[in-house]
Amino acid sequence: MTLDLFFKNAHLVFPGEATAPGGVGVRDGRIAAVTAPGEDLAADRTVDCEGRWLMPGLIDPHVHFGFGDPEKDFRTESRSAALGGVTSVISFYRAKDFREDFDRQLAMAQSQSVIDFSFHLGLTSDLHVKTLAEITRTYGVSSYKMYMMYKGQAGLAKGFTDIDDGLLFAAMREVAKLPGAVLGVHCENVEVIPYLRDPLRADGRDDLAAWDEQSPDFLEAENVHRVCYFAKKTACPVNIVHLSSKEALDEVRRHRRSGGPPIYVETCPHYLFIDKQDAAGPLAKVNPPVRTQADIDALWEGVLDGSIDTVGTDHVPRKRETKEKSIWQATNGFPGVATMLPILVQAGYHDRGVAPEVLARVLSRNAARIYQVAGKGTLTPGADADLVVIDPDLTRTVDPAELLSHSDYSPFEGRPLRGWPVTTVSRGRIVMQDGRLTDAAKDGIGRYIRRFPESEQ
Ligand SMILES: [Zn+2]
Repeated sequence: MTLDLFFKNAHLVFPGEATAPGGVGVRDGRIAAVTAPGEDLAADRTVDCEGRWLMPGLIDPHVHFGFGDPEKDFRTESRSAALGGVTSVISFYRAKDFREDFDRQLAMAQSQSVIDFSFHLGLTSDLHVKTLAEITRTYGVSSYKMYMMYKGQAGLAKGFTDIDDGLLFAAMREVAKLPGAVLGVHCENVEVIPYLRDPLRADGRDDLAAWDEQSPDFLEAENVHRVCYFAKKTACPVNIVHLSSKEALDEVRRHRRSGGPPIYVETCPHYLFIDKQDAAGPLAKVNPPVRTQADIDALWEGVLDGSIDTVGTDHVPRKRETKEKSIWQATNGFPGVATMLPILVQAGYHDRGVAPEVLARVLSRNAARIYQVAGKGTLTPGADADLVVIDPDLTRTVDPAELLSHSDYSPFEGRPLRGWPVTTVSRGRIVMQDGRLTDAAKDGIGRYIRRFPESEQ
């Protein structure tokens, strides 16, 4: 058996398990063999990893492709992802009626993406809840998101008229009926925010810390409590996406102790890396806000003890000009898909001694399990050959011009980070080598990941 590709002399990272020296053989887009040190197999092309890490390609379960240039984001942002060692993304997608828009959205993404992709559906109306089972089965999407911060006035400003606790409860009852489905919830109590925000603005505050003070940790924890409580009453698996604070994580832990359906937790690289004093200012404005050093430490503890299941970027690829404003006027969110891995290697492995297999657990394996992504997030023969080779000692300074995003800035720009991907492999194709895309990274080679096992197509 001749392999297409053989990665030798690697430091293999088995997510959640261990690391070991060895090699990985690839054939027909899949992992064909995992070998012991010195056991060299014949291949059309052999890559000597020289002891660098080789782990499953990252699955970023939280990107907003379409918030930059809706018509081209899957082209630019999937390339930025590939540069960052990300081989699958799940992008948030909203439509008035998914039954009338999904095929168009899928065709556009399919024609552009260089890596595999899927969608979460944003549930913003009664219609979405009523048609949930139908759209899940038709399109193979088993994860959704409710935006508690678009309740009431905040929602009306965005055109959402139906978002309230009733819609949340109704959605949970529907999701609970669908095997393996999970409801993600954005937790922030938007009704209290104005009472904290208005005095800060009146005082003339214009700094990143003020953004945290207008939506403090307890407004996140309060919503987390409500979501976990209703989840228990409806037996609905839920996912607290982009969890940002110790207060909120402790609330999840408290609810988990009393049993019930799964409560998953996702955090983001920025909550593990920068605090509200950061010099990035409005470039780092995001919902929920970046918090304090104590929160950063608590979230790393959560990664280590397994309380945090996944890390996703919340990647929003808008332009710098939308951020260079006051903290109150700047847009929310920022790009991150290309810098997730170096941030986790720097802040996790180098600064805190977090083992590579723990990073791989939150960066690939758990997302594959939670979101029903078959054949990914593992170095097992038969799995998709989605791989990333990482040089843990390569130091590069974050330069947005090199990251190929539609966006033209990074809240981490100018910062040296140690630990970068040097090779990205998408189903057996080397799409990135030494920080540059290869000729194999062509429009449309990414595949749609259909995730509901009972789905029709
Ligand atoms: Zn988001």
